Amino acid sequence: MKNVILTGDRPTGRLHIGHYVGSLRKRVEMQNNCDYDGMFIMIADTQALTDNYDDPEKIRGNITEVALDYLSVGIDPSKATIFIQSLVPELTELTFYYMNLVTVSRLHRNPTVKAEIQMRKFDNSIPAGFLCYPVSQTADITAFKASWVPVGEDQLPMLEQSREIVRKFNDIYGNILVEPKAILPDSQVCKRLPGIDGNAKMSKSLGNCIYLSDDSDSIKRKVMSMFTDPLHIKIDDPGHLGGNTVFSYLDAFCKNEHFSCFLPEYSNLDELKEHYIKGGLSDVKVKRFLNEILQSELKPIREKRLELEKNLPYMYEILKKGSENAQRVASLTLAEVKKAMKINYFS
Ligand code: ATP
Ligand code: MG
Repeated sequence: MKNVILTGDRPTGRLHIGHYVGSLRKRVEMQNNCDYDGMFIMIADTQALTDNYDDPEKIRGNITEVALDYLSVGIDPSKATIFIQSLVPELTELTFYYMNLVTVSRLHRNPTVKAEIQMRKFDNSIPAGFLCYPVSQTADITAFKASWVPVGEDQLPMLEQSREIVRKFNDIYGNILVEPKAILPDSQVCKRLPGIDGNAKMSKSLGNCIYLSDDSDSIKRKVMSMFTDPLHIKIDDPGHLGGNTVFSYLDAFCKNEHFSCFLPEYSNLDELKEHYIKGGLSDVKVKRFLNEILQSELKPIREKRLELEKNLPYMYEILKKGSENAQRVASLTLAEVKKAMKINYFS
């Protein structure tokens, strides 16, 4: 069986360290180490317009930002097809056919859709396109017959609904579509990295992010302002790790070698945590350590990005070629779908 990988991001802002640990890091690892037959990475502009239809400049500008982020973390256009969703109109057509396979009430019950509607305070004025998010995502995945979808945990209900739509399609029209599987990060914290404000999810729309392209001063300022343990007031007070964002980030980023480089009094994260829980370790010291780790992790990404920014035509060429390639593949699936649905009148 063929293994095809598909993922994407909404061009609603630059990518942040939540994207990095939740999905990007896995994509690069799979790109370099897995046996696969195709890898597609989509900049989901059509999807982003469903809740940003009144701000097209924002979406347009962020296509460049997201593409730069991809290349700077190590996505290799010779191995992965990077494309823009709206340049593959087959995806919109598939979305329309799949809309018949899902009910409005099922869409309302999707936990991710529910949470995102609440977050955006749509109340009763939900754009129909936004409600159909899981349907368009199913079109994106199935157009490439993707079997593996590396995502953060918030996307699990989306993938579940995609599988339902695929099963229904295959039952009615014949076995054409492939049921996708979510590939989650290995560690719990990376599945949903919290925001620097302690909010359950770092998200572009919530403005609680450390961006991959942040300069060194911004990273330091954000880390030093991070939410920790409100009960840890004096250094000697016992500290708590639950809900302590600084320790969540350490779980996501810290490796044993960071101690010998930046904090040699401890040999691993367990020792540091033990001291914090017992009392006697200041938040400032832990934050300084986290800052050193993030600076060392993000510096090469930022420097590569600065290089890429000097040659934007190169990047646009990658997007153009990638979108042409994606369209070619999606058109083959669309033809199969239309044949199965008996709407291939003159072929
Ligand atoms: P928006 O607020 O516009 O929805 P976002 O920050 O949620 O933006 P998306 O483009 O919706 O980002 O998500 C892209 C991918 O990154 C998805 O696979 C999602 O699961 C993953 N992701 C986003 N935020 C996080 C996070 N905080 N932790 C782990 N993974 C994340
Ligand atoms: Mg999102």
